[in-house]
Amino acid sequence: MNTRFDFARYEPFWQRRWEETGAYRVATDAPRPFMVVPMFPYPSGKLHVGHVRNYTISDVQARYWRRRGYSVMQPIGWDAFGLPAEEAAIKTGVHPEEHTRWNIAEMTAQLNELGMSYDWSRAVTACDEGYYRWTQWLFIQLYKQGLAYKGRAPVNWCPACQTALANEQVVGGPAPTQAEPGVETGHCERCGSKVVARDLEQWFFRITAFADDLLEGLDGLDRWPEQVRTQQRHWIGKREDGTWHLRDWLVSRQRYWGAPIPMINCPTCGTVPVPEADLPVRLPRQVDFTPKGEPPLASAPEFVGTVCPQCGAPARREVETMDTFVDSAWYLYRFVSPHDDTRPFDPEAAARWLPVDIYVGGAEHAILHLMYVRFICRALRQMGWLPFTEPAQRLFTLGMVYRNGAKMSKSKGNGVTQDEMVRRYGADTLRLWTMFMAPPGQPVEWATAGIEGCHRFLKRIFALAGAPGRPAPADEAERMRHRTIKKVTEAIEGFRYNTGISALMEFLAEVERHPWRAGVETLVALISPFAPHAAEEIWHRWGRKGSIDQAAWPVWDEGMTAAAEVEIPVQVGGRVRGTVSLPAGASQVEAEAAVAADEHLSAAVTGRTVRVYVPGRIISYQ
Ligand SMILES: [Zn+2]
Ligand SMILES: [Zn+2]
Repeated sequence: MNTRFDFARYEPFWQRRWEETGAYRVATDAPRPFMVVPMFPYPSGKLHVGHVRNYTISDVQARYWRRRGYSVMQPIGWDAFGLPAEEAAIKTGVHPEEHTRWNIAEMTAQLNELGMSYDWSRAVTACDEGYYRWTQWLFIQLYKQGLAYKGRAPVNWCPACQTALANEQVVGGPAPTQAEPGVETGHCERCGSKVVARDLEQWFFRITAFADDLLEGLDGLDRWPEQVRTQQRHWIGKREDGTWHLRDWLVSRQRYWGAPIPMINCPTCGTVPVPEADLPVRLPRQVDFTPKGEPPLASAPEFVGTVCPQCGAPARREVETMDTFVDSAWYLYRFVSPHDDTRPFDPEAAARWLPVDIYVGGAEHAILHLMYVRFICRALRQMGWLPFTEPAQRLFTLGMVYRNGAKMSKSKGNGVTQDEMVRRYGADTLRLWTMFMAPPGQPVEWATAGIEGCHRFLKRIFALAGAPGRPAPADEAERMRHRTIKKVTEAIEGFRYNTGISALMEFLAEVERHPWRAGVETLVALISPFAPHAAEEIWHRWGRKGSIDQAAWPVWDEGMTAAAEVEIPVQVGGRVRGTVSLPAGASQVEAEAAVAADEHLSAAVTGRTVRVYVPGRIISYQ
């Protein structure tokens, strides 16, 4: 085969091919369902290398379990409502919808350029009508169950801007939940004015109704990080201490870019839910974003004015929208039937695919998002929609990428873009490097010092793949092959990818010494989750059928994983006094232990120290 490492040609080629053949689409009734989900991103625009690391961590799992014979669903979507698009609209005049759609298109293209094995046919977008009508449906069900109610609560209010502010828009001061009306809660991020607490009538979800169960359920989540469980325990608190920390979830936002709260206020009947047949309550396109003392939706009269579904009298719609955490509290279920327009999701399919097998996301979601997902799971179970109480069996929280000491982000201006790295080194090198630079669960400071090494690593694999197969070498090389399969497999399952990749690098050096067929094939098979384009390209150049993704993951023989034993002479004072049998690579401590365990030799070496130890050759005492 030709051994050209022309990644700039074959990476886009395989991305197109995978898309055209629907390589990562999975049928809802596929056998052995297995669901790997990266927390769906906020569409912020260009990806930086911190994103690359996040999404590669999940994709390695998806590709690995697929090769283990499971029907892997790795869905993706967009947490597409929220404040940044609305802020941008106020500043630039670009409508939040346009801003968001443009960012989604940009990020979709970029994720594809990394070779992510998503089932794009299942993508969900929180700001699509076909999605948020079910977010509104959920609100109404919670209301009917007594789990949504209206109450008074303080918000941050900027008198100069005439608007309520989110906590992240207030600089300094206590959270408004702790403040009496009129008390200063900090300064406005936009204009610098003093921000005060102001009481408003708002909607809450009664998460405290499940407090005991949310607390007890943590004990069963033994495949969630202990740190997350501890944080959740503290957040919920204990009833005996009187100090429920857990408060009901305030879901009203005085914002435009969110799902409208599907409630109507009638002068006679009071608060009435929108009939389900009338959903969605559409977000009007034309509103005035500039704050004038009321939420932006109040500026759209054709939105506000309606009739009461109970008495038919003129009535007003709620003009607030829902916290975006509501969108992400139920999205996992939508993936099983994303196009169903008769119900939020297919409950039978949800029971087959969920709880999610592996859920991957940032540790910053340890409390709020995960608490809300657990709450909604319980509420849906109570309503008969789900047969389980916890949404994910295994949770992996990944470490952030830092640069110059700060978390890498677009807003901080310290992002290293994916584009420049992919152009220079290719997607596989970037994937490999971000997985190799540190254990996936730990934070890491971005550095490019090792990326060249990862690039050369792939180049050397191409060179080897074209080398004529030699006969199988000495026993020890085959043993190393088995050990490498075991190490890489365990490293992937344990999210210790960096140790798996370093085992592959050591193994590469061994295969280069005598490129035997099984050695080369194993190497290519084991890099496939990390460097999928390279593995697929070599597979194809070898003339193999189908995709390497469909080939079985290599297996090891446990008996072959131990190093071969060798006999070495034991010298005492210059004379050979006997031999011991040791693994070829045994350490000096192990060698001394073997000598001490020999009845005859142990007496001979008593009181002596080791002068020379050459593994596999000799141990010599003074
Ligand atoms: Zn202000
Ligand atoms: Zn009425």
